[in-house]
Amino acid sequence: MMKVYVDNAATTKLCDSAKNAMLNCYEYFWGNPSSIHTYGREAYEILEASRKTIAECINAKPEEIYFTSGGTESDNLAINSVQNGHIIITQFEHDAVLNSAKRFNNTVFLPVSNDGFIELYTLYGTISRDTKLVSVMMANNEIGTIQPIKSLAEICRYHHILFHTDAVQAIGHIPVDVKDLGVDMLSASAHKFSGPRGIGFLYVRSGVDINPMMLGGGQEKGIRSGTENLPGIVGMATALKESMSSMKKNNERVSVLRDMLWNGIKSISGIRLNGGMKHRLSGNLNVSFDGIDGNGEGLLVLLDQYGIATSTGSACSSASNEPSHVLKSIGVSDELARSSIRFSLSHLNTKKEIEYIIGVLPTIIDYLRRI
Ligand code: PLP
Repeated sequence: MMKVYVDNAATTKLCDSAKNAMLNCYEYFWGNPSSIHTYGREAYEILEASRKTIAECINAKPEEIYFTSGGTESDNLAINSVQNGHIIITQFEHDAVLNSAKRFNNTVFLPVSNDGFIELYTLYGTISRDTKLVSVMMANNEIGTIQPIKSLAEICRYHHILFHTDAVQAIGHIPVDVKDLGVDMLSASAHKFSGPRGIGFLYVRSGVDINPMMLGGGQEKGIRSGTENLPGIVGMATALKESMSSMKKNNERVSVLRDMLWNGIKSISGIRLNGGMKHRLSGNLNVSFDGIDGNGEGLLVLLDQYGIATSTGSACSSASNEPSHVLKSIGVSDELARSSIRFSLSHLNTKKEIEYIIGVLPTIIDYLRRI
């Protein structure tokens, strides 16, 4: 049986160059970057070289990059930069932002249009004198829609409000230039761009103050104490550089495959595409099916039995059968939201794999409608 991995929004396969760089680090640069001896100094050099590489990839300064354990921690740090006041986020943020924002009792949730976008006027309508921070994700993890971050950040700058973007799904897949975008903070996670798990970073524009959440030995300028995960950092820098250089080629390939998948399945009766096709990550396809009684989970399990790995929503919440808050935010009913599946493709997928999915899916949907 063919095995097809189309769940790259959940995580990606580590690329060879990152794996080799990490092995090299484990073998030769295992010193603690804070140690004063040669082992430590060599590790420190590699740490700072990686910071520089990452900074260059997003047009930041190296001192604006703080290493974290991933997207969740970066999001928490960013939201935690504000102690009181009013914050604005969107209805379809990842739980890392949503749950961090719950600490504020007067958080405003920006509505999302039916095709999956934040309209600028909704931000104008919610800003108040008390607003301290706005957080809008760059690309949604379930429906892949890419938000007008530059314009949103510009509105915030004009009002002297901090602007954070969760770029976990975007970075490595679409160009990200923090200076051009004008964002104050940006979250990233290596395992979404063929880097290792458990490592990420937060970009913080020079001049913006953030509060440490982890206190200890004072690493990362006191913002994130703890001995640095150097192999992870090296792997992340290598993967980011590689994904930047192959972005155009990969996106061309992936969007051809994604369009091939959509064209191959859109004639299944009662199928609905979630989120507009324009301004969407090249690998994302999120669809719902009428008549399967909210059994997206059954659909996922059957696809898995055919060797096809997908997701019903974000990997973190797919264990619960709650309808996706993302799909609800774009007006999808609870039942249809529970009848959805997300395909997230990568450059490692092939035409043969897509043909296989196109062949298998109608049979499964037909079966689910009969049982
Ligand atoms: N933000 C978004 C948009 C995500 O998709 C994810 C992971 O799925 C996260 C944050 C959390 O990242 P991590 O898994 O690195 O903690």
